[in-house]
Amino acid sequence: EKLGIALVGLGYYSTDLLAPALQLTEKAYLAGIVTGTPSKAETWKKKYNLPEKNIYNYQNFDQIANNPDIDVVYVVLPPSMHREFVVRAAKAGKHVFCEKPMAPSVADCEAMIKACKDNKVKLAIGYRCQHDPNIQAYMQVAKEQKFGKVKMVTSAAGYFDGRTNHWKQNKALGGGVMGDMGVYALQGARLATGEEPISVIAQASTTRPEIYKEVEETMMFLLEFPSGARASCQTSFGINMNYLQVNYEKGWLKMEPQSGYNGNKGSMSDGTLINFTIKSQQAKQMDEDCMAIMVGTDLIAPGEEGLRDIRVVEAIYKSVKTGQLVKI
Ligand code: NAD
Repeated sequence: EKLGIALVGLGYYSTDLLAPALQLTEKAYLAGIVTGTPSKAETWKKKYNLPEKNIYNYQNFDQIANNPDIDVVYVVLPPSMHREFVVRAAKAGKHVFCEKPMAPSVADCEAMIKACKDNKVKLAIGYRCQHDPNIQAYMQVAKEQKFGKVKMVTSAAGYFDGRTNHWKQNKALGGGVMGDMGVYALQGARLATGEEPISVIAQASTTRPEIYKEVEETMMFLLEFPSGARASCQTSFGINMNYLQVNYEKGWLKMEPQSGYNGNKGSMSDGTLINFTIKSQQAKQMDEDCMAIMVGTDLIAPGEEGLRDIRVVEAIYKSVKTGQLVKI
């Protein structure tokens, strides 16, 4: 038995990653699409053999409520549009997967969680890495206190984005590197400690002010955790970096890359290697989330997990604005 998924927004991630992954899934299949571009509807219909009745646009999307082929709506739009489409999907009685960052504000995230609760549907965030056994391996090290307490984390995630006039540079559409690659840098610290930060001080910068006029190109932030652990994190649309280093009382762990689509790998001070191979993170993510829906078990990354990150992201922007340390 498979759940039918409808992808909303047929840009890069849907086209290059999610639709191909849905050819590998065992518990999910591509059942429909929601797009504002008629030519894309035609292409996808042919390529994936989709029935006309399972193709929606942003206007008639709410009619998806009457379509039994669609069990899950997967929102893959720019972040500022996530709230509207998650709420509309929930009201249509469909389970929802939502891409990261969950939304631009804590208030948005809370409204999305409430809409899904009120309509008795599940909400999962597209945190593919949390389904990756390589990431789960370092989460386990903190849990078991294998090397004692976590003392210091260094976490980086960035790439050089050469595009101009993209939503990632547009404030109103939810752009800015912090919500984009920044959540991977933040998750590195949160997942490696297994704790939620209690304070942050942050600094935003850009080397290309002609492109990054409205949002930051680079964000650096320092986190403090309840146990006393500290993290130094950096994220950028101008720098190629993707690594995690965790220093414990009695050892260390390194990952590089730490948030790739595949090939995340690491090593520890006692010689242990982290190097699991998986065929597709996205396929595993969608299979596990569909399984949780079918069986009624907890999701690996529910809406509340997306909210935890956005709470920190909001505090980071507040710190940049005030130049002060912000308590969370
Ligand atoms: P994209 O720009 O390639 O695609 C965005 C889609 O939204 C396009 O189909 C576009 O037509 C549509 N859209 C509708 N209204 C729009 C508007 N006003 N402005 C711009 N586009 C509009 O973006 P993407 O890289 O596919 O990202 C989409 C979502 O997926 C984002 O939330 C992003 O953070 C997320 N994403 C996640 C991962 C991951 O690894 N989990 C990777 C890439 C992107």
